[in-house]
Amino acid sequence: MVEIATRKQPNRYPWENKKQSGIYRFFDGLEKGKLLSTKCKRCHHFNWPPMIVCTKCLSDQVLWRELPKGGQIIAYSLSYIGNSQHPELICTIELSNGLRMLGRIIGSKYKDLSYGLKVTRKNVGLVEGRPFWTYELVGRSKSKEGKTVTQSR
Ligand SMILES: [Zn+2]
Repeated sequence: MVEIATRKQPNRYPWENKKQSGIYRFFDGLEKGKLLSTKCKRCHHFNWPPMIVCTKCLSDQVLWRELPKGGQIIAYSLSYIGNSQHPELICTIELSNGLRMLGRIIGSKYKDLSYGLKVTRKNVGLVEGRPFWTYELVGRSKSKEGKTVTQSR
């Protein structure tokens, strides 16, 4: 179950239509549960967010590739934006290919997080036209007392 607040918001950026944007494949991927971005054919740079022109060498020869699911936390914070009663855990995650991106952490509390903890992508999709993706800590398990314990580094 996705733990994302589903606030009613107008879709101001209808980018998912092929006629309106060159990054419509990003939205197609989200609908299929895949987080895609573009990789440059010339210099092999992985763009994030997806771009139809390489941000490193400006080539327009890019390939669509799924981003690695695994990574590690390099920064984290609580976000009270939109819901002060239930803040969200927001992290900067370095994926296994070195790309850095923001992501939500689900299934953990702020006190469970620390730098370098490994995460894996859990959910990807669209909620009312808005992209989302979530991560959870790798190696989470329940102790005998029912308390959640996390991986050791
Ligand atoms: Zn390039």
